Amino acid sequence: MDQFQQPIRVRMAPSPTGFLHIGGARTALFNYLFARHMGGTFVLRIEDTDRERSEKKYEEAILQDLRWLGLDWDEGPERHGSYGPYYQTQRLSIYAGYLNQLHHQQKTYACYCSPHELEAERQELLKRKKTPRYMGKCRSLTDQEKKKFEQEGRSPVIRFKVDESKVIEFDDLIRGKVQVDPKNIGDFVIAKGDGMPLYNFAAAIDDTEMKISHVIRGEEHLSNTPRQLLILKALNLKAPLYAHVSIILAPDRSKLSKRHGATSLGEYQKLGYLPEALFNYLALLGWNPGDEREVMTSAEIIREFTIEKMTKSPAIFDVQKLSWMNGIYIRNANISELSQNIKPFLEEAGFSVSEKDPVLIEKIVEGVRGNLEHLNQIGNYADIFFDEKFKLEEDAKKHLKDNQEVATEILEALLRLLEKYDHMDVKAYETIQEELKKTVKAKGKLLFLTQRAALTGKLKGPEMVFICTTLPVASLKKRLQTVLTALS
Ligand code: GLU
Repeated sequence: MDQFQQPIRVRMAPSPTGFLHIGGARTALFNYLFARHMGGTFVLRIEDTDRERSEKKYEEAILQDLRWLGLDWDEGPERHGSYGPYYQTQRLSIYAGYLNQLHHQQKTYACYCSPHELEAERQELLKRKKTPRYMGKCRSLTDQEKKKFEQEGRSPVIRFKVDESKVIEFDDLIRGKVQVDPKNIGDFVIAKGDGMPLYNFAAAIDDTEMKISHVIRGEEHLSNTPRQLLILKALNLKAPLYAHVSIILAPDRSKLSKRHGATSLGEYQKLGYLPEALFNYLALLGWNPGDEREVMTSAEIIREFTIEKMTKSPAIFDVQKLSWMNGIYIRNANISELSQNIKPFLEEAGFSVSEKDPVLIEKIVEGVRGNLEHLNQIGNYADIFFDEKFKLEEDAKKHLKDNQEVATEILEALLRLLEKYDHMDVKAYETIQEELKKTVKAKGKLLFLTQRAALTGKLKGPEMVFICTTLPVASLKKRLQTVLTALS
């Protein structure tokens, strides 16, 4: 194959008209992985020609999301490159030149059809069971007819003349040979009357101008490729190679949407998914290492990533699986980094972290991280370590009330035993438990559950030894006193 003979250059080309979604993030990741595996260049190009819908806030969010995921681009916004500018609205003179060329070659024409007329044509074709497309009504307008339309106040768009005599063919690196009947395309719009290019035209030109070798993008763009190829061919420009990545579906095989959970990368960030976990999980949506491995570092994925291992069949985005994987990354994370990352989530859950000793925070995180699938769940597990959040939950209260007499005996004995300590280690904890067994009637589960209920306010949670050696003894005492008062 000659596909690797030229320098490898790939691109991510987001339109800043919304936040970066799972699909967009996966496209960016695949381009990044391919570039890094091949020692090529990863270009970021901002496709902002839709001026009404493009917004700076979306662009900033997309850049921040890509950075968060670890996808550093080599050329593009904030990076120097020899093929810039990397914003399409700053490249208008380039498109104008090519548009002019097509005009002189008589490959384009001005179309004055109104949206209403276009819709009527569409409906008519659908009624006749034909593929809806533009039938070329304005292809051969006379100068007089054009003038008349302009006098009516109509503004034209520029359409590209599709040669219907030749089947369009290309080799997709994932899908194999793709053939498209040009009769199903129809003359399509490539620019507005003022020369502002539309997506297919600008993207095709930029891919060539920026010397992009491989276009790796979602399957939803498959229908754009023949249009882009026609434009390039008309201009005698070299086309890149194309790889259309499988579509992403929800577990019920329907289109991924809000009802399946968060769909944008930013939302996952806010829920406390780790970038390393998303990097890993997204890489498996349409690619696999060729064996059963799932949890892989970014370096391993880069090493193994090839287009040949990309799959044609739809990829299933399963939040539960992502959460499972995120849990693994949480458990394996460096504890001081994780504690640092978790602080905003604690603050958000209403805990004043700044007043806590950082060592205590690390201990808490170490103790509860095994329960977390994403960091914003920390609030459900951390409250037992914060006195201001101490509260007897209904089931714990019921347990204590149902066993009032024994419970009072256990808790009073425990309080007495604690008098000797101002700090508790594992040894002290064990001694206290031994003493307790000797002093009170209750044994086994009743003994432990009662202590757990009184010291944490809950019937479930981390190991008691962990709780007792993490919390200051003063807190343990205070809790016992509160519960004893409530029981009396
Ligand atoms: N701006 C297009 C989009 O965001 C780019 C598609 C492509 O990669 O060609 O969908």
